[in-house]
Amino acid sequence: MNEKESTGVSNFIRNIIDKDLASGKHVKIITRFPPEPNGYLHIGHTKSICLNFGIARDYNGICHLRFDDTNPEAEDVEYVDSIMEDIRWLGWDWGTKLFFASDYYDKLYDYAEILIKDGKAFVCDLSPEEMNKMRGTLTQAGTESPWRNRSAQENLDLFRRMKAGEFDEGTKTLRAKIDMASGNINMRDPVIYRIKKAHHHRTGDKWCIYPMYDYTHCISDALEGITHSICTLEFEDHRPLYDWILDQLPVPCHPQQIEFARLNMTYTVMSKRLLLTLVKDGHVNGWDDPRMPTVAGMRRRGFPAAALRELSERIGVAKASSIVDFELLQFCVREELNKTAKRVMAVLDPLEVEIENYPDGKIEYLEADNNPEDPSAGKRLIPFGRHLLIERYDFSEEPVKGWFRLAPGAEVRFKHAYYITCKEVLKDASGNITKLICSYDPASKGGWSQDGRKIKGTVHWLCKDTAINIETRLYSHLFKVEDPMSCEEGKTFLDYLDPDSLVTKQAWGEPSLSEAKASDAFQFLRLAYFTADYDTTTDKPVFNRVVTLKDSWTKKGKA
Ligand code: ATP
Ligand code: MG
Repeated sequence: MNEKESTGVSNFIRNIIDKDLASGKHVKIITRFPPEPNGYLHIGHTKSICLNFGIARDYNGICHLRFDDTNPEAEDVEYVDSIMEDIRWLGWDWGTKLFFASDYYDKLYDYAEILIKDGKAFVCDLSPEEMNKMRGTLTQAGTESPWRNRSAQENLDLFRRMKAGEFDEGTKTLRAKIDMASGNINMRDPVIYRIKKAHHHRTGDKWCIYPMYDYTHCISDALEGITHSICTLEFEDHRPLYDWILDQLPVPCHPQQIEFARLNMTYTVMSKRLLLTLVKDGHVNGWDDPRMPTVAGMRRRGFPAAALRELSERIGVAKASSIVDFELLQFCVREELNKTAKRVMAVLDPLEVEIENYPDGKIEYLEADNNPEDPSAGKRLIPFGRHLLIERYDFSEEPVKGWFRLAPGAEVRFKHAYYITCKEVLKDASGNITKLICSYDPASKGGWSQDGRKIKGTVHWLCKDTAINIETRLYSHLFKVEDPMSCEEGKTFLDYLDPDSLVTKQAWGEPSLSEAKASDAFQFLRLAYFTADYDTTTDKPVFNRVVTLKDSWTKKGKA
């Protein structure tokens, strides 16, 4: 991982801002988060969101939310809505500063006419294939378009006719007239408008020409008075174009583009295009499938927003690209849930226990903390009776050395209840263990003995007569390998999907779990953190496994 630089703490972007404030270049800092509404936000976007909104918060500035909606075919209001919901859920607020690049289409068009009149843009009749061929390579200059020297008057006329819908898609483009010999391919007369007879989710059928991203983005930044336009490293080579366009036009200001490294994460893919494939081809159950690295998926899974913000802080902001270990995210989730999740008991793989010296038919209610980390979470009463359930793996007929859980003759603590001793093991005809006959020590109520005798093992349990059925959805990584994008020959990332990444298991839980509302967080004692899924109902409670209790991150010595 890179050096720990965090939002709130200094990083190279904040250093630039500090300097700009000190020199008087800027008085108020304005940043923006500019998603393209062509998919749901993923954990990578969270980094950019926390960075941009975090800077605005810390410098008393403003962060705009601007939808970069210049690609009508891929975009949709569903995505616009989900992006707004996700950013709010992450804890950020753009106030009244909601913008759409499509709001600037008229202005962008007017600026294009200015470029044409100044001889800095021309209408080109090359087909996309021809243009590609003439672009040159990294080592070879490109070739000038035969249409490059049209007069401003002719260009203006053609551009207006493009706008009026006279030409077919792919037959004409508007290109900036920069330098076909430039070492930077982005500067070789890039296309700034193309014909697209497509319906736009906001402007409808008003336009049949659409501005390109590079042209739109810098002008939108300038129109909004953005001071620092923070983007990911792949735009570094586009910065000269960003600056060139703004230098040619009478825009209100010239924002500074600053690039930082994208977030990548193990065991997942991070591009909306690939995530869309997973959704469309049914490899997952939608954008908010709890295995997806989307904000919506992580929310549904039960990852707290605070944990996603904490991750962004911990990974910091740097120029060098890095891959974040998924375990670091899980560590942040655990830390947060440890503080907030209500402790309850559930049993995933039950084994019956009968307490022979406990009266049949009697149920008593024992006190249990809701969260030992947070006394204000209070206590609840849990039922105890003669017939109980424990986890099958908490019993061993032939215990190995150091086994502290239940075994023939052994005494263990039933959490919040009593000391219990195993007396007898009942089996069916094929030798499977069907039930344990045990006894309890009435003097050990609450799970503490009167005579000070020490007991090492504690197990969780349920009262069989009051336990309710619950569905648990046990999630693990969607992919079997750390980097599904470095594929063997002839394979794609889809070949690395883990068919067992979701295992649904019927289980048993405390009666209070029937009241769980979607997104309520729990620690199922000794098992894992779980969150009530959106599908949960009183009749059929459903819980997603968020993260196991075992913390392999600290064990790696990394926290
Ligand atoms: P993708 O490649 O996943 O489709 P994108 O970059 O096309 O993502 P946009 O909607 O254009 O997605 O991104 C909005 C903002 O989020 C941009 O400023 C972009 O730089 C930033 N961003 C996207 N992916 C990441 C990432 N993995 N890490 C950090 N920032 C990111
Ligand atoms: Mg993009």
